[in-house]
Amino acid sequence: MKPLYKYYPVFVFLLIVAILSTALYGGFVVRSLFNDRIISGLTDTAELLKNLILLESRENIDRFCKTAGTAYTRITVIDSDGVVLGDSVADPSEMENHGTRPEIKVAYLDGTGSSVRYSDTLMRNMVYVALPEFDFAGRKIVLRTATPLRSLSDELRGAYVRIAVVGSVILVLVSFLGFVLIRRVNDALHIIRNAVREYAAGNLQFRSSVIRPPALKEVADTISDLAGDLRAQVAEVSRQRDELDTVFGGMEEAVIVLGTDLTIQEMNDSAYLLTDIERGAALDKNLLHVFRNSNLQEIAEKVRASEARVEGEIVLFRERELHLQVHGSIISGVTEDRTRIVLVLNDVSRLKELERIRKDFVANVSHELKTPITAVKGYVETLLEGAYEEHETSQKFLNIVLRHVDRLTAIVEDLLVVSRLESASGPGPEFEPCDIGELLGNVASLHGVRAQDGGVELIVECPPDVIIEADSPLLEQAVANLLDNALKYTETGGRVDISAAVEDDAVTISVRDSGIGIPEEHLDRIFERFYRVDKGRSQELGGTGLGLSIVKHIAAAHGGRVEVESVEGKGSGFTIILPQVPR
Ligand code: ADP
Repeated sequence: MKPLYKYYPVFVFLLIVAILSTALYGGFVVRSLFNDRIISGLTDTAELLKNLILLESRENIDRFCKTAGTAYTRITVIDSDGVVLGDSVADPSEMENHGTRPEIKVAYLDGTGSSVRYSDTLMRNMVYVALPEFDFAGRKIVLRTATPLRSLSDELRGAYVRIAVVGSVILVLVSFLGFVLIRRVNDALHIIRNAVREYAAGNLQFRSSVIRPPALKEVADTISDLAGDLRAQVAEVSRQRDELDTVFGGMEEAVIVLGTDLTIQEMNDSAYLLTDIERGAALDKNLLHVFRNSNLQEIAEKVRASEARVEGEIVLFRERELHLQVHGSIISGVTEDRTRIVLVLNDVSRLKELERIRKDFVANVSHELKTPITAVKGYVETLLEGAYEEHETSQKFLNIVLRHVDRLTAIVEDLLVVSRLESASGPGPEFEPCDIGELLGNVASLHGVRAQDGGVELIVECPPDVIIEADSPLLEQAVANLLDNALKYTETGGRVDISAAVEDDAVTISVRDSGIGIPEEHLDRIFERFYRVDKGRSQELGGTGLGLSIVKHIAAAHGGRVEVESVEGKGSGFTIILPQVPR
């Protein structure tokens, strides 16, 4: 049964009660009005008869009563002892004492008495009115008039039937109208209830249509409008949420959002990369459990305790050592379980590494420069102390000084090249079409004499028309550095091959020698600045330790790279791999 219909029987019941009670009360009112009318009619008649009776003699009272009385009006005269002196219907001598009748009692007390009751004399219901006692022929008498009640009941019965008919018609009509109204309201409520259920389930597109009653139509329309507003707001919130997710997910910084119990509420991809767990698996887990780092935990605890921004640095030991700068802050919520601690972790490992490289570089440069400068200073001082007087010694010393100055010059020149290649603001490489065959020829011819002097065979091989976009002077310097090393570390009778080849869209330039080779454990590091396998030998041969580092930088400036392969005692091969068009 639909909810509102449950109340329908109650409604009908209440309606019946209302109509019945109205009818009964109406009947009661009509009846009492009727009684009042009869009583006042009987009183008027009694008053009239009183005046007439006063004209009669005492013996004539009964006759007077019988003459004046009618079928509807009974007249009785009673003395002050209750003895009936005259009666229009019965014989007074056969009538009992009337002193105890209620209306008579009132008359004895000087009032107009009335009562409705059963008459023992006439054996039917009667209405009685008795006038106050008055004097008649030297004694006190009471005059009473009466009329049968049946005539009243008969008249009222007709009225009751009419009231019952009209009441029943009203009952049927109102019940029917009530049913129609309840059904309408019920249907409208059903539609509204359905719509609200749909909205609650998230279907904000749903539209409901209530046509009547107007009050419920207004309610339904207002709820629909509300759903429309809600839909717009939800769309806006999800758009903002998507934007935030995109920003959050795309951030290079790791972001961790914690509850006040330091469990992870949210974490972006960068943060997951710092852990060894799967994406999404950290939610609701403890910070310490996920990151296994007590310093990070301490920072979060400090933020929670101080409710202020806290900064710190932590080191995570993953595949490599990660130095992370941590910024912690708190976002206060309406309640404590809405309060969030946000940790932003910045990977500063690269900065730390650069810092270390910079420090090492400064230390290396100082160290490299210090040796020749100390030597120059020592020899010059010795010369000044008198050695210059000895021609042969001073000649020898000055030659040594010259060698050290040459070395200083070589170091400074290489440093300038390195700094130019590393400088982001300086003029970058200038690319132009460059014929590799020609370039290799140039380098070989510059070093040809040196090869000949050292008894090393120098062979250049290059297919015709290998042309790439390159900065020729830089590339020439790279090949020259490789050739210089090859000649330095190849003994007499050895051989150096310079060659070029085109592979897919790359050009390779190789310099191979049959020299001393490089022990395998050094291969990873020989491209570092100032790294040498045998420092003494390198210095003796005029090396600066920067040659291969420069080659690496030049290859990188062309969008390429350099590779090495070497077998100790058998020789080395260096290959520069360049894209035909620099990227
Ligand atoms: P250097 O000026 O000392 O040659 P480089 O940077 O050019 O500095 O080379 C670094 C080190 O690599 C050299 O000191 C040397 O030990 C090693 N090396 C470079 N090229 C060769 C080669 N062709 N044969 C053997 N060792 C080499």
